[in-house]
Amino acid sequence: MVFFSKKTESSGMKPEINIGLVGHVDHGKTSLAYALTKKWTDTHSEEMKRGITIRLGYADVTFYYCEKCRRYGNTQKCASCFGDAKPVRTVSFVDAPGHETLMATVLSGAALMDGALLLISADEKCPQPQTAEHLKALDIVGIKNIIIVQNKIDLVPQERSLESYREIKNFVKGTVAESAPVIPVSAINNVNIDLLIEEIQRTMPTPERDTSKKPKFYVARSFDVNRPGAPVKELKGGVLGGSLIQGIIKVGGEIEIKPGVKVNDKWSPIKTKVVEIFQAGVSDEAAPGGLVALQTELDPSLTRGDSMTGSVAGLELPENIDQISIRITFFDHIIGIEGAKKVEPIKQGDVLMMTVAIAKTVGIVTSAGKTAVLKLKIPVCAEKGDKVAISKQVSGRWHLVGWGEIV
Ligand code: GDP
Ligand code: ZN
Repeated sequence: MVFFSKKTESSGMKPEINIGLVGHVDHGKTSLAYALTKKWTDTHSEEMKRGITIRLGYADVTFYYCEKCRRYGNTQKCASCFGDAKPVRTVSFVDAPGHETLMATVLSGAALMDGALLLISADEKCPQPQTAEHLKALDIVGIKNIIIVQNKIDLVPQERSLESYREIKNFVKGTVAESAPVIPVSAINNVNIDLLIEEIQRTMPTPERDTSKKPKFYVARSFDVNRPGAPVKELKGGVLGGSLIQGIIKVGGEIEIKPGVKVNDKWSPIKTKVVEIFQAGVSDEAAPGGLVALQTELDPSLTRGDSMTGSVAGLELPENIDQISIRITFFDHIIGIEGAKKVEPIKQGDVLMMTVAIAKTVGIVTSAGKTAVLKLKIPVCAEKGDKVAISKQVSGRWHLVGWGEIV
């Protein structure tokens, strides 16, 4: 996944909501993101103003509404009457990594999403392994706002598209997406993208944000933006990219970052100051909604190469914990694997991967009772009641086996 756009949308509106794109590889996430935003790219890199270089994998787009035609679109000119349409909302799309095999990364990406589009290709039987896995991830993370996008309808005859529709409805029965709308589209041919936008507007309202709470920022990426060999006095501080979950962060404000840095085998939180903020352009403050880059006073070597991914930044954050007690609910079967493989009970010494909001960490089971206790390799900034997704390595890959709550 992920990010950063340098320009403000031409509408001048800031993004208000993050919508994730999830689904099996090759079902069309990148193509749909492009159809929706007209500027998506995963490989491109762009020089941000004042030298912040950031890879894109996310994009903002403003949706417009033409009152005359009663039609939504993503351009200022209405696609039917070519008249002026009214800007209604700016939305950020976040990618769940398409070729990412690490389920935990999809889960941590989901921590930034307010809603999700689940892509399902009409020309393949549903569910494909990652379709099931991603839906489960949305369920665990608690994303209820889901639209199912049935893609590639141009590739199949009508009977198959109806059959695919039935497979989809059957698959989502009893899940969080049971009553999610299903919108048939062809991402590469731009078919029904206007209907999808309408459905997003209708069913995914901007969440209410409590900006009076202490700020909490999930770090999805981190960068050293300096050119190699740049003179010391020109060095810019480390950059954190991610999303503000609550509160406000202002330029000049102090933040702490957890788990922080490891010194002599011990992790300690670090404090720094925010020097510059980019949220749909340079901004005095960051608010929830959309993706944000915070330039800090941190030594840039600390943020190089995404080394702070999974951290939490803000004020009055929960403590770092390196031993975690979780009440676990295991699934009957391993999710995201062909065939029905039973989840084996865990035992002492097992290694599990846990995703706690944006953070992922590996832990060793030290006690395997009803409430399992794990010793974590890297501490997490979390508290009682937080949800944890649990993955286990099966045939060389991490698979989702259950979820739990910190007790
Ligand atoms: P991702 O892995 O989910 O991001 O999928 P991509 O967007 O990369 O799409 C995978 C392949 O499917 C590419 O070759 C796309 O050109 C193709 N594709 C995506 N959407 C459509 C569609 O609506 N119709 C057809 N025929 N092909 C599509
Ligand atoms: Zn019109």
